[in-house]
Amino acid sequence: MESYTTDLVVVGAGAAGLLAAAAARRLGDQVIVVEASGRVGGSTTAGDGVTWLPANPIMIKAGAEDTPTEAAEYLTALLGDPAGANAAAQRAAFVKTAPKLARWLASSNVPLQVAKGVSDQHLLLPGAKASGRAIQAGPIDRRLLGETDSALARATGLMRDALARLPLPRRTATGGESLVAHLLHRAVANGVELWLDTPATALRTQGGRITAVVVDRDGVETEIIASRVLLAAGGFEADAGLRDEHLPLPTDTAWTSTAGTNYGDLLTMAEGIGAATTNLADAWWQPVMVTEGKAYPVREAMHYPHSLLVDAAGDRYIDETRPDYDLGSAMYDHSRGVRAVPSYLIVDNRHRQHCQLGPWNPGNTPRRAIEDGEITRANTLNDLAQATGLDRAGLLGTVVRFNNFAAKGTDSDFNRGLLDAAAKSKRKNASLGKIDKPPFWAVKIYPGDAGTKGGLVTDASWRVLRSDATVIEGLYACAGTAASIFAGTSPADGAALGESLVAAFLAATDQRSDRRREL
Ligand SMILES: Cc1cc2nc3c(=O)[nH]c(=O)nc-3n(C[C@H](O)[C@H](O)[C@H](O)COP(=O)(O)OP(=O)(O)OC[C@H]3O[C@@H](n4cnc5c(N)ncnc54)[C@H](O)[C@@H]3O)c2cc1C
Repeated sequence: MESYTTDLVVVGAGAAGLLAAAAARRLGDQVIVVEASGRVGGSTTAGDGVTWLPANPIMIKAGAEDTPTEAAEYLTALLGDPAGANAAAQRAAFVKTAPKLARWLASSNVPLQVAKGVSDQHLLLPGAKASGRAIQAGPIDRRLLGETDSALARATGLMRDALARLPLPRRTATGGESLVAHLLHRAVANGVELWLDTPATALRTQGGRITAVVVDRDGVETEIIASRVLLAAGGFEADAGLRDEHLPLPTDTAWTSTAGTNYGDLLTMAEGIGAATTNLADAWWQPVMVTEGKAYPVREAMHYPHSLLVDAAGDRYIDETRPDYDLGSAMYDHSRGVRAVPSYLIVDNRHRQHCQLGPWNPGNTPRRAIEDGEITRANTLNDLAQATGLDRAGLLGTVVRFNNFAAKGTDSDFNRGLLDAAAKSKRKNASLGKIDKPPFWAVKIYPGDAGTKGGLVTDASWRVLRSDATVIEGLYACAGTAASIFAGTSPADGAALGESLVAAFLAATDQRSDRRREL
């Protein structure tokens, strides 16, 4: 077996792993990052890289007001008091570190800007903010990356399609890709070693502390001896067996919109050396449609007027414009009474002519998708119910009632669009519109995810804990590998990355209090 020695091994080269590597290197540590796939970026490159960092200096500079205390107030209103001292310390560490991390990113030449139109998701709660807490990296010219550019996963799916429509030079990276590009540049330029196509296959311990990570490097079992190891390898969203074991049923790997590279193997390895896990039934829920085996988030289509969501009985059961997390978990909750997995998004022809639906542009629904039953088209609602198997009387009654609400401008059942109207638009209920222009369309909606959310139990420095709350010395976890501190809800778009990056930063700089002020 080949053997190497370093200070810190980071497993997983998503945004969190790269940030940790760059931060530790800046403190003088030798760092090796091992990445199972041939590209860096993980799921971050699939999205727009919105990162929720309350009280960040970018929003303050733009004239907004916020403090860590207000952020803590919002989280308490949303999540309740933390369950125990460890949870309290983690939440406090998050709100305290978020502004510091944003400062560190800015000082590392990541050009941050406030993410437009992104508010906290529960605006009526005390401490919530209508804008500014979510930030994003501006564009980067990929030529700056030199040969490391080829390691950067290209934006995929919807993000790629959206990028293609922007007037940007071909080699410009934006969104999540830009964030990863900046972190990659920072890490590699400063001497972090990046081993691609190198999955971690085992964790070694001695006397209760981590001593090494074993990896498969070009088919050669290789040991990397280190006193600190950070698991930043995402969750288990791509593993069918673990999904079936832990997530609510039914579930399917086809419903995740992530890069599909995270199989939960590090979670299993850590459990094997005594690590505790929690909240494994939770995920960053996200309603999706599936076409040609791929999941596509449908938020825009759910917000657009002339649409509603029904269960198998043809009944609505939620405000379709609620946050993704709430919609996904409601699909499972509601399914206990009536089948709601899948639910159906019912739209009329105005919607199909003017709104993007997954990969399908407005006015363009592939014949193949109709033939394969991915979307159903009918000239009457009666025929639509028959073709989909939805309860006919239920669906017809629901649409009549909904159309009355649309005419009045108020959804008396679920207050659709009320928050949207309050936060984003002067027009009353911009998301309410009648469903009355044939042909009518129905597309199956599944409780998909942007990654799993349960994972290893960690402390306020994101050190991995055993079930008796003792620390596995030297072992840290972040990203989907560690359990989220936002169990059972989501405070805002960007919370997944915000939490991942804060955790990575704290893990990378733990035990370096002597030099932390240099960051
Ligand atoms: C379409 C989409 C849009 C999103 N948009 C946002 C957003 O705007 N804001 C937000 O907060 N969140 C968003 N998310 C969620 C967010 O992308 C993730 O929370 C975030 O990318 C996690 O980054 P990470 O570094 O923590 O993990 P990942 O990006 O998942 O990286 C984990 C890495 O570990 C590697 N790995 C796995 N197993 C091994 C192994 N055995 N050995 C070595 N390496 C391994 C993987 O290959 C991968 O590269 C989005 C997700 C999706 C799918």
